[in-house]
Amino acid sequence: MDSEHILTRLRAEGYIISPSYADSDLVVVNTCGFIDSAVEESLDAIGEALAENGKVVVTGCLGAKGDIVKKTHPKVLAVTGPHATDEVMAAVHAHLPRLHDPYSDLVPPQGIRLTPKHFAYVKISEGCNHRCTFCIIPSMRGDLVSRPVGDVMQEAQNLVNAGVKELLVISQDTSAYGVDVKYRTGFWNGRPLKTRMTELVQAMGEFRQAGGQNVWVRLHYVYPYPHVDEVIPLMAAGKILPYLDIPFQHANKRILKLMKRPASSENVLVRIKQWREICPDLTLRSTFIVGFPGETEAEFEELLDFLKEAQLDRVGAFMYSPVEGALANALPDHITPEVQQERLRRLMELQETISEARLQRKIGKVITVLVDEVDEEGAIARSAADAPEIDGVVYIVDGESLKVGDFVQVRVTDSDVHDLWAETI
Ligand code: SF4
Repeated sequence: MDSEHILTRLRAEGYIISPSYADSDLVVVNTCGFIDSAVEESLDAIGEALAENGKVVVTGCLGAKGDIVKKTHPKVLAVTGPHATDEVMAAVHAHLPRLHDPYSDLVPPQGIRLTPKHFAYVKISEGCNHRCTFCIIPSMRGDLVSRPVGDVMQEAQNLVNAGVKELLVISQDTSAYGVDVKYRTGFWNGRPLKTRMTELVQAMGEFRQAGGQNVWVRLHYVYPYPHVDEVIPLMAAGKILPYLDIPFQHANKRILKLMKRPASSENVLVRIKQWREICPDLTLRSTFIVGFPGETEAEFEELLDFLKEAQLDRVGAFMYSPVEGALANALPDHITPEVQQERLRRLMELQETISEARLQRKIGKVITVLVDEVDEEGAIARSAADAPEIDGVVYIVDGESLKVGDFVQVRVTDSDVHDLWAETI
């Protein structure tokens, strides 16, 4: 999103965006500093930009991490932290004065997006009020700040007007939306609208494409608060996609407590069961950390048992990795990388069998998909169960004449661990 804001401002001021170093007068590098490997990757990217172009402005999370950028690459022109579009623009103005062409100030109403035209991310808040011990996002990005509900809806409306068919609602903590402003009532289209996740996504669910088809609304990074239950009926009613990306991180009470996460996996299992009763088509995606400091074999097995019981559709699992500044680093009994790897492998093997079986149940069914890519061999699309980049896809074997951005009805013919195969009907 930061990149998109910066690109939009640059374009709005008449700068031309170039994909190559050679054709550019200046390079803006947006960095990540969340985990150590991202720090290295970001520093490498800055080094490459300096070597290839020489005029480099650095922005993003790494810029907030002390003077690591300046120390490693003293030749960079300017360094800013995340969400610093104004500062980035000031650096660009200083080193590459803006062009004076009144015609180039035009910018499409949806801004410039990095994602394909038919889906777009809508960031509803920034920062997080939680203090999970493995995470440094709150110290880098601060406490939760929700965007005004009217602004979010206007951005979403602009995107839909510009042809976007799927809105991906993101933030660090989507279900906390509005907590910081006490769920203040804002306005949208002259109607009062609360700054709250349920009310927001219900309003987004009313967007229609030309032709009457409703816009897909997909929820990401939903922290498992009790009020998440409220969105399930909206999913069952087809207002928003029956898809919930809800990180649980672990199942064992002690580990969850050490992580400073809500600690009741029995409760989670009961809720999942209720959600599926209300919305049988619900796709659940979650993430888990294995090898957290002090995790015993028995506690890890409890996580495996939870997964067997929960039958989640999509699971991302990560080995615990100490991030500079995270409280969990100080915990005793760190797990060796060998044991972490072995646990990760066992978890993924189990989850693969679960995912495979769940996808197999779709064979023979007719589903609606959104086409992402088309070539002479067919089309690649996604169903309600597939978020872009992180989930599987649906290969449409006879889809060569479909168009990117089309909604199509297909019959599922085959499946594997992550993906489906289908034909048009
Ligand atoms: S893991 Fe998520 S919920 Fe926890 S502190 Fe980090 S951003 Fe907040």
